[in-house]
Amino acid sequence: MYRTHTCGELRIGDVGKTVTLSGWVQATRDLGGMTFIDLRDRYGITQLVFDMDTHAELCRRARKLGREWVIKATGRVRERASKNPNRPTGDIEIEVQELEVLNPSKVPPFTIEEETDGGDDLRMKYRYLDLRRPPLQRNIIFRAQLALETRRYLYEQGFLEIETPFLIKSTPEGARDFVVPSRLNPGQFYALPQSPQTFKQILMVAGYDKYFQIVRCFRDEDLRADRQPEFTQIDCEMSFVTREDVLQTFEGLTRHLFRTTLGVELPEFPRMSYDEAIRRYGSDKPDLRFGMEFVELDELVKGQGFSVFDQAELVVGICAEGQAPHYSNKDLKKLTEWVQRPQIGARGLVYVKINEDGSFKSSVGKFFSDEHLQRWADAFGAKKGDLLLILAGEADKTRKQLAELRLEMGRRMGLMQPGDFKPLWVVDFPLLEWDEEEQRFFAMHHPFTAPRQSDIPRMLDGDFETMKSLRADAYDLVINGAEIGGGSIRIHNRELQEKNFRLLGFTPEEAERQFGFLMGAFEYGAPPHGGIAFGFDRLCAVMQGQTSIRDFIAFPKNNMGRDMMIDAPSPISEEQLAELHLRLVDLPQKD
Ligand code: ASP
Repeated sequence: MYRTHTCGELRIGDVGKTVTLSGWVQATRDLGGMTFIDLRDRYGITQLVFDMDTHAELCRRARKLGREWVIKATGRVRERASKNPNRPTGDIEIEVQELEVLNPSKVPPFTIEEETDGGDDLRMKYRYLDLRRPPLQRNIIFRAQLALETRRYLYEQGFLEIETPFLIKSTPEGARDFVVPSRLNPGQFYALPQSPQTFKQILMVAGYDKYFQIVRCFRDEDLRADRQPEFTQIDCEMSFVTREDVLQTFEGLTRHLFRTTLGVELPEFPRMSYDEAIRRYGSDKPDLRFGMEFVELDELVKGQGFSVFDQAELVVGICAEGQAPHYSNKDLKKLTEWVQRPQIGARGLVYVKINEDGSFKSSVGKFFSDEHLQRWADAFGAKKGDLLLILAGEADKTRKQLAELRLEMGRRMGLMQPGDFKPLWVVDFPLLEWDEEEQRFFAMHHPFTAPRQSDIPRMLDGDFETMKSLRADAYDLVINGAEIGGGSIRIHNRELQEKNFRLLGFTPEEAERQFGFLMGAFEYGAPPHGGIAFGFDRLCAVMQGQTSIRDFIAFPKNNMGRDMMIDAPSPISEEQLAELHLRLVDLPQKD
């Protein structure tokens, strides 16, 4: 027998029992007459003691064990003289009578502890060692619990878990497809699903009116900081539902997940239109853990001879409460440089400090009198000690820049407390987004999203300008500024779907070739339907107050989309290429 208990299990009540434990040697401490070993498995750490007086031979063997050796130890549980209150097993230790080495280990390339000294690539290469570290183990275990509770809740609500294929053809979620060549069909390719979108809609036509799946999705995007080429969604679709039904069901799921895995009761889920979110926070995923709402100043500041403001499409600012005394001229210069970095791209920053004595200090004090500045302060509802930060320029860009500044100030001011969760539904997104460069519309969500019921007649008959003003029956769930999920009520009739494809620049033939199967299905009794997908990796990270999804994926890819452990992607042989009817041309030189 390898073990009677795990390394996280024994307590003071077990004293006197003879037990066997198996695990990894975390650390060895040799104190002359006594040798101590911390034995670790995924359940915890238990201290083993070897006594030179009574078991000299065993003790000598114990001293030779290295880090990460796998051992089996049998002995008696006894109360510890000096207890460790930081460990659940800290009241006891095992007085070892038998020791067996199950497998030795090389010296690991980094420390396997709460904090490690290993760099990213090294840790990815030896992912099996990194995964032994307690923080990663906590994350992976949390993820498993979250998946279990997702299934529990959705099954209870009558959802069926149905698998959809991975070898499909393109689904337009706006990214590039990963493609797989077909050996049996020369010159033809499958695409890996960017999401199961079309299949789940077909399942609605087939009458399976509540579908879900915890499913891998594949998107070949240039990897930004927190993206993975394969990631997991909680993907759902429902028939005979309105937006309200979908929001209620998934607010319920979210509450269930927070309650059962974290013991957190979420506050109200407010609703905010896309337009309002942009106006108040400059973002369609505002972090509502703090206020610092945008105040538009155009009417107050224009026409006073300050050309930066006069020429701007928008002058907008935020009020950082109580920050005036904390920002010296030098700090304000640094903050200005911060907004001028290419990642933010603002041209400059206008500030107004409202000093404790009620006087003003402003970067535009030359242009505006104190009475003027007082009117600005009133517009913000600002008081003594506050700091106004103002940007000006082209409306969309300026709002984005100020949104970044708002988050930065929130961070600096400690307003984004972990453990504080502020959910929000953003609704009424535009249906179509006009791309100036490409001179065409893009679907803001995806091409299967329905316009709001009241916009359908305008969509069928309207002109170009009308199309820009159409609103979608789409919604996003945002928590603490992170987009957790999004979905929509779908188009379920052929005519409207055809019209949408036309607006998106598809010729009727292209639309038919790519999505004829779906539009065909709409002609055989498609029920009204809608759904949503949550980013599962992101949800894990946000719930744990962490920013990187990578630490919640057992085997993630690095920033170049590589799996460092198995070294993929990798070349394939000439034979394999030939079998797939492929030939490589003009490969870029490897450096
Ligand atoms: N398929 C969508 C996505 O991946 C979600 C949905 O509309 O249900 O974002």
